[in-house]
Amino acid sequence: MTQSKIENQKSKISPPSPAATGLGYITSALAAPVSPAEAALRPLSFADFTGQPKTIERLQVMVGAAKQRQEALNHILLSGPPGLGKTTLAFILGHELGKNVRVTSGPVIEKAGDLAGLLTNLEEGDILFIDEIHRIPKTVEEYLYSAMEDFRLDIMIDQGPNARSVRLSIPRFTLVGATTRAGLLTAPLRSRFTLQTRLDYYDAETLVTIVRRSCGLLKVPVDAGGAREIATRSRGTPRVANNLINFVRDYAQQRADGKITQPVAAAALELLEIDAAGLDEMDKRMLRVMAENYGGRPVGMSTIAVAVGEEPETLEEVHEPFLIQEGYLQRTREGRVLTAKGYAAVGLKPLGGDQGSLL
Ligand code: ADP
Repeated sequence: MTQSKIENQKSKISPPSPAATGLGYITSALAAPVSPAEAALRPLSFADFTGQPKTIERLQVMVGAAKQRQEALNHILLSGPPGLGKTTLAFILGHELGKNVRVTSGPVIEKAGDLAGLLTNLEEGDILFIDEIHRIPKTVEEYLYSAMEDFRLDIMIDQGPNARSVRLSIPRFTLVGATTRAGLLTAPLRSRFTLQTRLDYYDAETLVTIVRRSCGLLKVPVDAGGAREIATRSRGTPRVANNLINFVRDYAQQRADGKITQPVAAAALELLEIDAAGLDEMDKRMLRVMAENYGGRPVGMSTIAVAVGEEPETLEEVHEPFLIQEGYLQRTREGRVLTAKGYAAVGLKPLGGDQGSLL
């Protein structure tokens, strides 16, 4: 079995993480590069991975067939909000196939030469994981087509009268692309993936299992109530759950007897300003701006972003999917609209259908 090769270039593009407390806790937890401690909690095999049953079954079928035919796995596109396990699954695929996994990210591959460097260093059957594949520059994307389809690259070298094209053959590899914004992928790129599968937010039951597993690995004592409290405040996201466990563990050690129980977890997460539904201060600010400044009427994400002081992309990728899934806001052609549940979450109610007021 080949040991998976970790070559994580994610950190090159991730912004530095702000202090992981208070405003924007969720943003900072999800935007920061994965720490070694977090990576240690990654499930390594299908058997260890909880949830996402449809995606897992599809991947197991493909892995089983590729192994039987002794061929490289077909290309796979994983989509879904951050922290749901896309990178984890790429490593699991490598582990199950006994192949290396090389990790990179769309914006890091700036030119065709970068792509050529990555691809020519692969071995037969290796996995190239490209995170944020929707952010790959268009000029590089075109080279990816022939690499994915015919396992060759026609690269132009030199310029002017000396310019010539060189054909490089590359080993049969598997591209695993990950994206938080599947809609931004071009049709030609999307069509080159044999499997396109979407990861969904995890339900509370599944997250309880994940919290218990992580606490077990970290040797943190937790009871059923404590695990459930963390799970229900983790907005369906294992990466958030793992981050919350770290803080709750510190809290339990400092303010209680070290054991994570329901009251201990609830008090710790109140201190982080993460409410019982998993909303943090940034979510609430967004909802408040929509209620108070726009009376719940349609408003564009860039307008909300200016008002709350955050990048529109971050709000769209990290906050909005959960707020929509849970019914706090809706996306319409005219803009984002606040729902009655959205008003209630910030202690307001729609007045005459369009004006927010204090309850
Ligand atoms: P993504 O690539 O979708 O942003 P990651 O694969 O980096 O998400 O997952 C973040 C963390 O969440 C991992 O370090 C892993 O510990 C944890 N995780 C994700 N999915 C699961 C799961 N199904 N079971 C247990 N832990 C998980």
